[in-house]
Amino acid sequence: MSENTADKRHIAILGSTGSIGTQALEVLEANPDVFELEVLTAHSSADLLIEQALKFKPNCVVIGKEELFKKVQDALFDEGIKVFVGADSLVQVVQMDEIDVVLTALVGYAGLRPTLSAIEAGKHIALANKETLVVAGDIVTDLAKKKGVNIYPVDSEHSAIFQCLVGEFHNPIEKIYLTASGGPFRGQTREQLALVTKAQALKHPNWEMGAKITIDSASMMNKGLEVIEAKWLFGLKNEQIDVIVHPQSIIHSIVQFEDGSMKAQMGLPDMKLPIQYALAFPNRLKSDFPRFNFLDYPQLTFEQPDPKTFRNLALAFEALKQGGNQPCILNAANEIAVDAFLKDKVSFLQMSDIIEQSMQKVSFIKKPNYSDYVATDAETRRLALEIIN
Ligand code: NDP
Ligand code: MG
Repeated sequence: MSENTADKRHIAILGSTGSIGTQALEVLEANPDVFELEVLTAHSSADLLIEQALKFKPNCVVIGKEELFKKVQDALFDEGIKVFVGADSLVQVVQMDEIDVVLTALVGYAGLRPTLSAIEAGKHIALANKETLVVAGDIVTDLAKKKGVNIYPVDSEHSAIFQCLVGEFHNPIEKIYLTASGGPFRGQTREQLALVTKAQALKHPNWEMGAKITIDSASMMNKGLEVIEAKWLFGLKNEQIDVIVHPQSIIHSIVQFEDGSMKAQMGLPDMKLPIQYALAFPNRLKSDFPRFNFLDYPQLTFEQPDPKTFRNLALAFEALKQGGNQPCILNAANEIAVDAFLKDKVSFLQMSDIIEQSMQKVSFIKKPNYSDYVATDAETRRLALEIIN
């Protein structure tokens, strides 16, 4: 640790062993004068967590699984790094006095409780965990407003919108276009999708990401989740959000203002840029990320999305339209469906069936409170598992 850390930004990374987490650590490593690391957390990747902790010397770490606690504690004891275990510890460590910004890079519904806890303690959020806003965007954004907390988007599309809005916060948005790569199955028919394998779905053309979001990208659910995420991040009406397929993933998204002008943010697909922008806002830190060369991309192309073939996208728009706890149901059913697909228990197209049935069967609540969301998540998981088995 350096002598004077008061003017640095002190960071907690939830999910440090994942795709976003490891790239965030690269950003921190490249900018030791800007950032100070306070917390690292993982669910089951104990060895990588230990390795990261020995290298970055955070104040404390959290390991999710009980049975790995002793291993991590023994490895970090001599360094004086505190070790905690379990989901409740995650909720507590984010409130540590030393922390300025919490990067939520863990995956799924598990992000909701620690994110709310961090906001409650007045910590700014660099939000990668889009599921948090999909499940309970109203509660999360209301609390952030009340606590004066900023939510900086990490998702590349939302970072793009956010970057386009700098200097424009007083100008109303007419609409936004979220760009979508279309994933590995762009242009395929339902007959073709019926036969796709897990290995094919896990190969994204432009991005390297964790397994869950890679499957979501292949099914277009990721874009559906992002539409809901955008609604809450930017306070938009449903009809102000549009999706356009852009296979090269160079334009990361677009804002259209009331005078008709459009601003887009572009660059090579590399998550380190949005991660760094969220952590260092409002500053742009000098980086050696590869630069875009126009001649490598003589054509940037655009297509209409196809929600008839990629039904998950239609289901997400339906959940957005219905509101209430429907996006929470969508998310929970999707998490169960993706997990089952990754375990070869259901086919690619069956994932949409599971989600659709869950959305029809779980009781709808128009104005859910926090415990309604918790109950909805649990009920949906139970039902979705029943449908599968
Ligand atoms: P990964 O699967 O690569 O990493 C997930 C991280 O969360 C790991 O550190 C994992 O620990 C931890 N984790 C998993 N389950 C739990 C749990 N139940 N409780 C606590 N921690 C848990 O995911 P990604 O990095 O790809 O994605 C993280 C989030 O960022 C997701 O919400 C995703 O949608 C979003 N995002 C990701 C992008 C990307 O490029 N990867 C782009 C935009 C958004 P362990 O390693 O021990 O399992
Ligand atoms: Mg994205």
